[in-house]
Amino acid sequence: MLHHPKSIINLIRNLGRLPGIGEKTAERLALHILNNPSAQAQQLALSITHMKESVRLCRKCFGYSDHELCTICGVVSRNTALLCVVEQPADMTSIEKSGGYNGLYFILGGVLAPMDGVGPEHIRIGELMKRVERGEVKEVILATGTHVEGESTSAYLAQVLRGYPVTVSRIASGVPVGGDLKYVDQVTLKKAMEKRHAVE
Ligand SMILES: [Zn+2]
Repeated sequence: MLHHPKSIINLIRNLGRLPGIGEKTAERLALHILNNPSAQAQQLALSITHMKESVRLCRKCFGYSDHELCTICGVVSRNTALLCVVEQPADMTSIEKSGGYNGLYFILGGVLAPMDGVGPEHIRIGELMKRVERGEVKEVILATGTHVEGESTSAYLAQVLRGYPVTVSRIASGVPVGGDLKYVDQVTLKKAMEKRHAVE
């Protein structure tokens, strides 16, 4: 890399700080940008600064948005009685991509992790309660991850929500579609067995 001019090395270093981008990929991207028209490079630089300046958190779900309300909260056809609680905006995107959900979301901004000093006051539990108190929500779907912190956060939320007139549900977990049982870990198999349902 050191045989490049300083300006190229500078870009390689900056690109290399991005997740999943090693030095080789960073070098390839930098040279690609260099060898393409200046307009493209300018657009790339502009779109990065524009995104940083314009993206804020939706005032309802705390997802990313260019406006006060995001593209999901602002849609009238969504089922406002369903509220799906997720850890991060990327989780909301994943559920949206699945196409199987038409309710609204709430982004907690993390999970409880007492060992790392993350308590209820560090994630948006208070905001979630305020949202539920407004009365429109009839069912809260807990869709935090199925890792230890995700499970304990979900259990904590279920406990707190007990005092509210809402149904609380937890996303199902089990054997992945197309999965071979011998490759599924024991905890997942145990859960799949516990959450078994009658065959229609
Ligand atoms: Zn929103």
